[in-house]
Amino acid sequence: MDHTACQGELDADVDKIIEAQNVSKWYGNFKALTDINLTVRKGERIVICGPSGSGKSTLIRCFNRLEAHQQGEIWVNGIRLHSKMRNVTEVRKNVGMVFQHFNLFPHMTVLMNCMAAPMWLRGMPKEEATDIAFKFLERVRIPEQADKYPAQLSGGQQQRVAIARSLCMEPAVMLFDEPTSALDPEMVAEVLETMTSLARDGMTMVCVTHEMGFARAVADRVIFMDRGHIVEEGNPHDFFTDPQHERTKVFLSQILRH
Ligand code: ADP
Repeated sequence: MDHTACQGELDADVDKIIEAQNVSKWYGNFKALTDINLTVRKGERIVICGPSGSGKSTLIRCFNRLEAHQQGEIWVNGIRLHSKMRNVTEVRKNVGMVFQHFNLFPHMTVLMNCMAAPMWLRGMPKEEATDIAFKFLERVRIPEQADKYPAQLSGGQQQRVAIARSLCMEPAVMLFDEPTSALDPEMVAEVLETMTSLARDGMTMVCVTHEMGFARAVADRVIFMDRGHIVEEGNPHDFFTDPQHERTKVFLSQILRH
């Protein structure tokens, strides 16, 4: 590990996995995030919801530096993210990300998809990487598909492989960016079950999702965003039964109608 990149920038509170303080982000002249404050502690399950274009994806992409913020501070697992940081890989080793469109390597088998990052980023020997890959393919209940290529799997299976691939890096936090919204309806349940079981095992998770059943069952906190702001947050019971803000009420009435 290149410790020089984060020297003098380590956060003392080890319980905080993510901390965003007054974070703002622009795309050109357009302000996508405004004054975001959010702390995610070890073991917490956070669900972020809100209308399309409200900044949910942008926010979680800032947490693994797929996007850069321009104002405020973000700390991830004790490392401060900033424009002069030299080692973004060090951050990404700590942060697993699962995307809407799986983003598996199409030319690699399921097994190699899972072995690649531990070998390339952690320098793990092949045998150990194979063991880890099988451990997490079993975790998502798909070890029998190890020798197939992504295109030979269903969408739900591919997404479970994508989850296993992230877990192989044994990240401090998993970010999910609408992981079920590209799936056919009959495949949503298997992915949500996998996510629910990870949550039950104590994984720290930040999930952007419209799956409000999942939010109710699993989240410690639900965060509602609109137009780049966190408008409201609360525990699922309060959030769903007694939303405080008009925009939250409108959003929930639209999404829960279906
Ligand atoms: P959400 O995830 O809530 O749907 P996004 O974070 O994807 O919202 O987008 C927030 C806003 O930022 C939207 O208005 C979107 O059009 C804009 N945006 C997102 N990515 C880019 C980009 N790369 N360049 C310019 N604008 C972007």
